[in-house]
Amino acid sequence: MKTMKTAFDWIRTILVEVPAIVFLGPNKAIEASLQREAEHVRAVAAEYNPSARPIILDDLKTCRTCEQNTLMLVWPHDICVSCWKQLLNLAFDAPVIEQLSLWRDVERLVKTCQDSGGYPWEDPIKIDLAKSSPEDRTKLSKFENPAEVIEQQMCVLIASNNLAGRLEVRRKKNVLYVCAVS
Ligand SMILES: [Zn+2]
Repeated sequence: MKTMKTAFDWIRTILVEVPAIVFLGPNKAIEASLQREAEHVRAVAAEYNPSARPIILDDLKTCRTCEQNTLMLVWPHDICVSCWKQLLNLAFDAPVIEQLSLWRDVERLVKTCQDSGGYPWEDPIKIDLAKSSPEDRTKLSKFENPAEVIEQQMCVLIASNNLAGRLEVRRKKNVLYVCAVS
């Protein structure tokens, strides 16, 4: 997941970060840049994800989603800032998804897994979108690939319930399967 620096980012780097390294020395410059990033995370969180908090680490840690080293994780998802932003981007489809009657079953399922601390069943649970109600199908028709959108939203729901290491979603055409992480 590589993000391109925009012209604005480059100007900011030249005007803010380079002088900071020259005047403050590398450690202080990194600290200042982390504080700025934490401030940014807090501002985004206040708007879109009020429970999220930036955690500045003493040592480099590997993000469990993208496996990049980072000095900052976003609590409670425990992922790096860019993965967290991606999670938020995916969450923008949430209002439509939350209107679906099948979504209530998905939420109930994740709640059951959270209560039992993992995936309590032997077999995967199957969600067949072809068998969803006509109302659901009308709402889903706005998406080019509804199964993919629901899969992404389910991943957001699983991650925000701290079940990312225990529960996973697999997709086969229009059918989604929820199962324990193998
Ligand atoms: Zn990451």
